Amino acid sequence: MQLLQQFSYQLIVVTNQSGIGRGYFSEQQFHHFSELLDAQLALYHIYLTATYFCPHHPVDALPSYRRDCTCRKPAPGMLLQASKEHQIDLSQSWMIGDRLSDVQAGKRAGCRTILLSPDPPSLNEIDQSDWIVDNLLHAAQKIVESENTK
Ligand SMILES: [Zn+2]
Repeated sequence: MQLLQQFSYQLIVVTNQSGIGRGYFSEQQFHHFSELLDAQLALYHIYLTATYFCPHHPVDALPSYRRDCTCRKPAPGMLLQASKEHQIDLSQSWMIGDRLSDVQAGKRAGCRTILLSPDPPSLNEIDQSDWIVDNLLHAAQKIVESENTK
């Protein structure tokens, strides 16, 4: 994350948190967790531009959270919202995640995509991801290398 920051990337978290909709924890608890994460990252001089979360689930959620929303990945809603609210060019952005739904959300939003997969990826994952690496540091290094070869 430090490396990406050095190259002027904004860091934004987009996360499915259907545990909220399922009633496992509250939005307030999630906000508290996010604040703790921000504080931990700040110790390393890493600053998130924003955090977006989807509390919904189409089936398995309390009535007030049960819906087919446009934010739950693989839908691109959170990325589109981030782009709008922070003037981010999605075509110059990278979606990095450890699930195929992350890659699919990124693709639908017009981002380039990196799947984090410590285990051998499936054919579907290979087919849909721009790159596959085993951890976030390697993802950042690949991005920076691609900047240097522009
Ligand atoms: Zn949602």
